[in-house]
Amino acid sequence: MRGTQAVVVNNLNVSKPASGPTLLSLDEVNTLFHEFGHALHGLFATVTFPHFAGTDVFRDFVEFPSQVNEMWMLWPEVLANYARHLETGEPLPAEVVEKLHASEAFNQGFATSEYLAAAWLDQAWHSLSRDAAAADLDVAGFEASALADIGLDNPAVPTRYSSTYFQHVFSGGYSAGYYSYIWSEVLDADAVEWFKENGGLTRANGDRFREKLLGVGGSKDPLEAYRDFRGRDAEIAPLLKRRGLDG
Ligand SMILES: [Zn+2]
Repeated sequence: MRGTQAVVVNNLNVSKPASGPTLLSLDEVNTLFHEFGHALHGLFATVTFPHFAGTDVFRDFVEFPSQVNEMWMLWPEVLANYARHLETGEPLPAEVVEKLHASEAFNQGFATSEYLAAAWLDQAWHSLSRDAAAADLDVAGFEASALADIGLDNPAVPTRYSSTYFQHVFSGGYSAGYYSYIWSEVLDADAVEWFKENGGLTRANGDRFREKLLGVGGSKDPLEAYRDFRGRDAEIAPLLKRRGLDG
């Protein structure tokens, strides 16, 4: 970028236990891989202007490469490198890894529905015309009818956030962007599938991901960059499979 190399720092705050060595929970390891994915996005930037480099991409695209990087956390060759018993040095048993994978689908029917309800509600608020928004609006009524429109007015699965305490709708810079979490995951799951179809952890695969996606940052239409990498548009099937919703 303008003749300088990118400098990226990852800081992970880990709580120190009352006694004994500091170990990482599964969640913390996941965060570490995730944030390192953001770091790679910045480090591999090949564009001219910082404004388009690395993580300077659209909000609904920025979490995608970092989510892909999470795939390596439980990848056998990677796992064997770092997940060892503190005292015996034994690697994490394969059946534990299998259970961790199996647990990924736990409760996803509920979690996906409550999330989608909130994402839809966010879109509904941002689709209101100025006149309708200015009128004396019944907030609870508007919310109920928006959710009924897509059959998610089910009291057993309430929306993750109700309008009156839904931060992402109007503040925090999201503004109609709450959907981006799952959209990033559509790309993520589809990209992970590509790695698996093509031999997993290889230099060639990493180079391709680096060149076609990480390197170009925001200098290219994200879907075009994705197509360059994947050879086609993203498909939803890998996400449904990951969440156990494809049955
Ligand atoms: Zn992130």
